[in-house]
Order: sequence, then C-alpha cells, then structure tokens
Amino acid sequence: MSHLRRRLVLIGHGMVGHRFVQAAVERRLTERWDVVVFAQEPRPAYDRVALTSFFQVGADELSLLPAGEYDDPRVRLVLDSAVTSIDRDAQHVTSASGEVVPYDVLVMATGSVPFVPPLPGRDLEGCFVYRTIEDLEAIRSAAATATTGVVIGGGLLGLEAANAVQQLGLSTHVVEMAPRLMPVQLDEAGGAALVRHIEGLGVTVHTGVRTEAIEGVDGKVTALAIADGEPIATDLVVFSVGIRPQDALARACSLDIAERGGILVDEACRTSDEAIYAIGECAAPAGRVYGLVAPGYTMAEVVVDRLLGGTGDFAGADMSTKLKLMGVDVASFGDVFAATPGSLELVFADAVSGVYKKLVVSGDATRLLGGILVGDASAYGVLRPMVSSGIALPENPEELILPASRGSAQVGMPDEAVVCSCENVTKATICSAIDGAADTSGCADVACIKSCTKAGTVCGSCVPTVKNILAERLVSAGREVSNALCEHFAMSRQELFDVVAVKAIRSFTALVAAHGIGRGCDICKPAVASILASQTSAHILAEATVGLQDTNDAFLGNLQRNGTYSVVPRVPGGELTPAGLIAIGEVARDFDLYTKITGGQRIDLFGARVEQLPLIWRRLVDAGFESGHAYGKSLRTVKSCVGQAWCRYGVQDSTKLAIDLELRYRGLRSPHKLKGGVSGCARECAEARGKDFGIIATEKGWNLYVGGNGGFRPTHAAELAIDLDTETLIRYLDRFLMFYIRTADRLQRTSVWLESIEGGLDYVRSVVVDDVLGVAADLEEDMAGHIGAYQDEWRATLDDEEKLARFVSFINAPGTPDPSISFVTERGQIRPAAPDEGRAPVLVASASIPVGAPR
Ligand SMILES: Cc1cc2nc3c(=O)[nH]c(=O)nc-3n(C[C@H](O)[C@H](O)[C@H](O)COP(=O)(O)OP(=O)(O)OC[C@H]3O[C@@H](n4cnc5c(N)ncnc54)[C@H](O)[C@@H]3O)c2cc1C
Repeated sequence: MSHLRRRLVLIGHGMVGHRFVQAAVERRLTERWDVVVFAQEPRPAYDRVALTSFFQVGADELSLLPAGEYDDPRVRLVLDSAVTSIDRDAQHVTSASGEVVPYDVLVMATGSVPFVPPLPGRDLEGCFVYRTIEDLEAIRSAAATATTGVVIGGGLLGLEAANAVQQLGLSTHVVEMAPRLMPVQLDEAGGAALVRHIEGLGVTVHTGVRTEAIEGVDGKVTALAIADGEPIATDLVVFSVGIRPQDALARACSLDIAERGGILVDEACRTSDEAIYAIGECAAPAGRVYGLVAPGYTMAEVVVDRLLGGTGDFAGADMSTKLKLMGVDVASFGDVFAATPGSLELVFADAVSGVYKKLVVSGDATRLLGGILVGDASAYGVLRPMVSSGIALPENPEELILPASRGSAQVGMPDEAVVCSCENVTKATICSAIDGAADTSGCADVACIKSCTKAGTVCGSCVPTVKNILAERLVSAGREVSNALCEHFAMSRQELFDVVAVKAIRSFTALVAAHGIGRGCDICKPAVASILASQTSAHILAEATVGLQDTNDAFLGNLQRNGTYSVVPRVPGGELTPAGLIAIGEVARDFDLYTKITGGQRIDLFGARVEQLPLIWRRLVDAGFESGHAYGKSLRTVKSCVGQAWCRYGVQDSTKLAIDLELRYRGLRSPHKLKGGVSGCARECAEARGKDFGIIATEKGWNLYVGGNGGFRPTHAAELAIDLDTETLIRYLDRFLMFYIRTADRLQRTSVWLESIEGGLDYVRSVVVDDVLGVAADLEEDMAGHIGAYQDEWRATLDDEEKLARFVSFINAPGTPDPSISFVTERGQIRPAAPDEGRAPVLVASASIPVGAPR
C-alpha cells in the first residue's frame, strides 16, 4: 500500500516545527504521510523561550527532543542541513548538502532572525545577537574577558538579554530609543516603574537614546556612540531591536509576502501556493506576524487538522505577556493603551515601592479590557481570563489592583476562562484533568495537569493559578493535597533535605537531575539553596548556588522600596561597645545613611546603593563587625535584657547567654527567619516568648520556650523544658533547631511547624528531650558542623574578586550615582523622595577599594 502514502517536507525544526511533528504523530497523520524535517541548527528543537537558562542548565536540559529523533519511524529528522531552494513546479526542495526531496505538501516553519540595524561598526568583533544556543555560547566566551556589555533594545527580548549579560558578571547597560522600556507592552508610567526596578538591580538604563555607531579599535568593539551624549565604553554589544521573519526562501520561489514581511497565509495557514503552508514566526496570517510561541502552536495544530480533512482556523491570538525580568514581575494583557473607544483607566501607582497597576475597563465599567502590572503581577492569573471570557467586573473594580485586594478570592473564574493562553487551556479542562474520567483517579499535582493538558508548559506564568485551582478542587472533593515542593520536585522539603544529606548532594543541578525534573522555579530554587546552605559550609554566593538566591541573598542586603539596600551589622545580644557605636555612626555619617535602632536590638542603616555595599562593609568589617543576616532566612538576633549584672531583679546573666547563642547560631540557614530572646527574670523584659526560641531565667537555671513569633499572626512560645542548666539548655536548643530545619516545610515558621507536625509540641519534646527517635546525636553533630564551618559572608565576599564583581556598578563604574534614586531630608536624616518631592543631590562614595585591602 506504500504507493498511497504521501510525502510531507517540513522546513525548520524550531519550537513550532517540533509542535507540528508532535501533533502529526499524536493525530496519526503519519499513518498516511512520510515526513522529512530539515533543521538548519545542529541540534533538535529546544525551548527558545527559556534560552537564558542555558547558562545555568546547559543545552541538553533545554532540548524538546532529548532522544535526538522521533519514535515514529515515518519521521526523518535531518539536522544541520538548511533547505536552500524550493522548486514549486517540480514540488521538491534542495538542502545545503545537495539532497533533493520531493513533496506533496510543504510546511515552512523557518521562524525569524534578529534584526541588526545598519549601523556603522555592527560587524566588529564583540557584536552579537540573542536567538540561538550558539549565540549564547559566543556571548559567554566573549564575556570571559569583558567587564562591560551593552544591549541595544529595551523590549522584552532586550531585557532578557540584559539579564543574561548581567548574570555573566558584566556591568550592564540597556540602550532604548523609545522613551520607555518595553514600549509595546507598557505605558509611560509602567515603563518608568520598570526602569526603577531594573536600575535598582544594577543595570544602567538609557531610554530615549539613539545609537549612532559601534566604535572599535583593531576590529574590536570599544564603545557605543549615541546621539546627544558621551559614548558608552563597552566590550560587547548585543543587538535586540526586533525580529524579522525568515521569508527569504519563500521570496525566492515567489510566494506572496505580507507588506511588512512574513509569508502571507490564509486562516488555514496556506500560502499563495495550495501545496505550501507556513506556520510560526515566519508566517503572516492576515498580514500580521506573531512574535510569541503560542500563536505558532495554534497554527501547527490548524495545519495538521487541515491535512486530516478538518476545518481548523487560525483566528488571531492573545498577545498577553507575563514574565519575571531579573526578579521583577511584569504583565501586560488586552487593550493596554485604552484604544477601545470610551474605555476608562483605573490606576494604582506606588512609585516608592515600584508597583504600578493599570486596568482598562469598558465605558460602563462592567468589563475588563486590558491591563498592565509592574512590580506585583500576582493578580494576572485572575485578570487576564476576565478579559478573554468577558466576566462581569465586581462592583468596585479598583479593589482588583489595590494592595489589600486578594484578587482570586473575590472574583470567581468561570469554567470557560482561558487559564493558559500559550496552550489555550481553559479552567474546565484543568478541572476535568483533576477530576479524572470514571476509570482514572485524576491529577493530584501540577506535573500531572501539565502533562495531561499542556497548561503551564510554555512560559509557565499560569502555574500559580493552576496550583490554586488544583488546591481548591482537591479540597472541595475531600482529596488529599500533595505536599510536593513544586512541580519540579515530587518530594516535600523535608524529603529533599534528607536526600541532600544522605547523598551528599552539593548543587541544585545535581539534585534536580537525580530527583526532579525541569529547570526549577522561584519556589524550589531558594528552598534548595536554603537546604544546601544548612548542610554545607559553602558561601551563599558560591557558583553552585548563587543563581538560586533571591535578590536579598544575592546582594547580602535587604532591597528597599527605592532600590537601595539596608546594611545591618550583627550586634550579638544587643551589646555594643562605645567604639563600635562610634564606628557605625561614622559609617552612617560618611555614606549619609538613614539610621534606626530596631526591635531586634541592633542598628539598621538604610539607603545604600548596590555599588556602595562593599565600601560600607569594608569599613564595618575593619571595625570588627560582621553580617547580621538581616537578608537571609536564617538566625537574625537573640534579644536580651541586661540581666543579673545590672538589674536588681535579674537572676541569671541573660546578656551573656544571648551573646553566646547568637554567636553559636549565626549564619544558620533555616526554612524561615529565626529569632531568639533571653530574659534575666520572669518579668520578661526581652519579650522572649514572642520568639522562635525564648529563654527565661529562673533561680534554678533556665526555662526554654519554643515556637513563638510576632508579625502577622502573633504566637506565644510554648514551654519545652524547665529549670535547665546552661549546658543542657544549649544541647536541647541545638537539637530543636536542627530538627526544625530538617523537617519543616519551606517558609514555615516554627509556630506553624509545631502546629502541623503530628503530635505537636509533645512529639517534638519527646524527640528533643527524650530522644525517642535516637537522632539526638545526629542533630547535635549537624549543629557542631555548622558552628565549625561558619564564616562571615561579608568578610569572605570582600576577599573574593569574583564575588565582588556582582556589585557591578562599584567595580566597573565607580562614582556614577543612580539618577533615579533620590532622597529628601526629614528629621535630620534622608528618606526616599516621593514622586512629587523632586530630587535631592545624592552623595557619591567616590573611593574604590582594591580586593583584599588592608583592614
Ligand atoms: C530569548 C528569547 C525569549 C523568548 N521568550 C518568549 C516568551 O516568554 N514567550 C513567548 O511566547 N515567546 C518567547 N520567545 C519567542 C519564541 O521563542 C518564538 O516565538 C518561537 O521560538 C517561534 O518558533 P518558530 O518555530 O516559529 O521559530 P524558531 O524557534 O526560531 O525556529 C525556526 C527554526 O527554523 C530553522 N530554519 C530557518 N531557515 C531554515 C532553512 N532554510 N532550512 C532549515 N531550517 C531552517 C531555524 O534555524 C530555526 O531552528 C522568546 C524568544 C527568545 C529568543
């Protein structure tokens, strides 16, 4: 029967070409068709959307076809072999290697190429584009000897490229001709909010700036010449000013081309030649090119459907975008510029914290038409489906974007709402995957929903919404909610902790390779970083874990609302010598930092720019201070009263014990932050029972309380053991803390852990005091390991050139103040300026320090 088989040639094995083959195999098109796929790139299709993670995970992990070929023997994949011509009359294609393959139907999925503007110097060594794995390999190798990189283009892909350049440790500039970043997706205020965030992370943004030329010496890039300004010195340049559809082959064989480029296709994705289809970024349905992957996937499905005799149509696509750029949430959906006649705008802007949210609603305020979210895009999962499904707005639509709003709790999502716009998956489809068919049990975790429905498999922005739907559905059906850490790890945090310990795993990559899937996410990466930090002595900015840290840990400081950082030296037990106090005061004065005494009995210094952090810490370390870990999920402080030494009522030396404990547990990474307190008598001046561990002196020794905290849900610590001598107290505390660190869930405070653990406090007491599990010695040994390996993170950073290089503006552009950060003076000190308060001069710490300078 082979003479009845037909021949299909596919040109291009990118994301959309691969999806086409998948759909052809799944829908059994290959039972009647032989498929030959020509791929120009040397490897099978890979996840281009996640290209930037190549630096962390490598090429294999990005592959969409790890086996290198399809299971179906009727699909032949020819790698590293571009098609060079199409003969429409003879109906065959010719490849670069000279192979001629006839076709009955030809599908073009050639994607697009980055546009490089015709600027003088664009061919100099050091100029790159950002599209393929080979591009990234070239950028990485050039970065090894570079200190500064410029990205031309501040759109979505430009910022993605800037992220990569910064991750490679270069001082990074973004140059955008439009007056704002992401000009296609954001309005002016949204763009301004994004600039503040991105600059707060150390990238210098130049908007409204036109590039005139790339300058070079000896054939190599040295600077970017810009209109109306000084050249920007740089070692490499990445062009990211847009893409152009790869339509050269189509032009050469005289297919119709859209006015602005792209192969013109009808709603069936058929070109002007009946036997030729075009899909993905090279195609222009109704004259429009789509630069996102989801529309390409739809086109692939449409063509497979048509070849099977169906009537599938491509009817346009949702161009919503949600992404995390350098840790900043940005989303844009629907009619962002309020182009619909009569539409109204609702805006919430907090310029100080960098949150900007805009809703565009219909003139009668009954329907949501679009929106922009910068700095906090948590409402995206609820808002975007409201646009596509036309759900009626609640009575006070502004509540959807006000900070107190709880979004999803207020607006029910109808079944027909599209949750995953990349794969066009509705809430109803997700719910039926959870419910299962009559003979199957249904999904109980996100990974299963992903594989059954494809929701969340492309850009991943809908995963939190999928997770919420899953939890709600399982609870309402009385089913057990999985305790998997996230969709990349089926194990709980506790199980992962044990695996890391037993197998001595030392990196996220090794853990995910052996016990997880994918590349990780914002949930599992910091959780694994914390587990690794609890068990190893590696520095938090060590190569294996630095990419996992959130912004605070990554810069060893707490990011504040205006993009500056706070500096918090450790003051054990709250005891401070006059010399120490003066040293802190001098640093605060010299760097003009806002100074405040905290509830944890230490001094916070606010307003430090990222490039100032090493300068400030050098001074503090020289004066004998060390990191207070205010940025980490780790021990913060052990608060104390003056105790027996000074107080008439004190019965023990509470200050000494607090100091000893703070020094013992400093740097101890844990599921959540940890605080302690020691009171010298029952009057409890140190408020020890509001802490994770609190100790109160008695005539006979010490009472130990655990599981307290202040904050959002205050909890009084409960009694674990009484009248302990100091040695026993410390032994119990070592065991308690290590047992908590080993067994608690991520971001679970001690109080919640005690509530959730089976048997509660009594069980924990039996483990810690009575050693019913026989693990007390192990727990103590773990703690001894931590204490022995402790190093001050800031001191180690100052001594290490590579780590210092993270504070890029300091290393490469000393003395350049961030123009978007401004302060005003209030009560004799600086504070961040509100938007209408103008700009005050910024003090610039002009000295730079060589690595390892004398202390
Ligand atoms: C850094 C980055 C981030 C992105 N982020 C997102 C995102 O968050 N969300 C989103 O929706 N989209 C994103 N995109 C865009 C997304 O990657 C594209 O929409 C998608 O890859 C398009 O798929 P495609 O198959 O049409 O084109 P491509 O993936 O480019 O594949 C086309 C393939 O055809 C090959 N080819 C070309 N000519 C020939 C020939 N003559 N012979 C043989 N082979 C040929 C090319 O070498 C290429 O491998 C991003 C892109 C980049 C670069």
